Amino acid sequence: MEIVLATRNKKKVEEMARILEGMDVVIRTMDDFPSCPEVEEDKDTFEGNAVKKAISIAECTNKPAVADDSGLEVYALNGAPGIMSARYSGENACDVTNIEKLLVEMRDIPDEKRGARFVCCIALAFPDTPPTPPLNKGGQGGVVTFLGFAEGRIGRETHGRMGFGYDPVFYPSGYEMTFAEMTPGEKDALSHRGKALEKLKDYLVRSLPR
Ligand code: IMP
Repeated sequence: MEIVLATRNKKKVEEMARILEGMDVVIRTMDDFPSCPEVEEDKDTFEGNAVKKAISIAECTNKPAVADDSGLEVYALNGAPGIMSARYSGENACDVTNIEKLLVEMRDIPDEKRGARFVCCIALAFPDTPPTPPLNKGGQGGVVTFLGFAEGRIGRETHGRMGFGYDPVFYPSGYEMTFAEMTPGEKDALSHRGKALEKLKDYLVRSLPR
């Protein structure tokens, strides 16, 4: 079975491809389908955005498509940056400016209140999915979703150069190193995306024709 990874983020493609390695699926990326449109993430939940992207790319490519939407939720900031994670610091946001803004916003938050979690929703949509299916109700409508979480806390300065996004300031629970100081394999085993992808993998193993 062919599956299209509906993201243009190279780091995410690498992570997803690594975790799905060894499965009986041929992975395609958006590079194989340059004419597919960019999908606007305008829903107010991770699930809504992931489902919208997966359906749009499944329709455009006529193949099953996997999309993710993910982000960081800081408890002391009432869940911010949340679905705004990629654009937290404004129109020209990048990882550096997003982290800068986060550290400024959290400047006065004491160590014991710096808890946060990464959230990832993965959606798998099939080409015949109607445009507005019900969400995650056992897969009706040809779309299924899988959630993954990584609990941790936000540091006060950046550490490490691996990964992307907020990795240099995120300490997963039980570790004294940030995601950006871990090898890709170490991060996959703990990460929200790793956990959601493991659920997708289980689903594919159970449902792929033998
Ligand atoms: P998305 O591409 O809309 O899912 O945006 C997700 C944003 O959340 C990214 O641009 C990052 O800022 C952040 N994010 C999601 N997953 C991770 C991760 O694994 N590490 C660090 N930041 C992440």
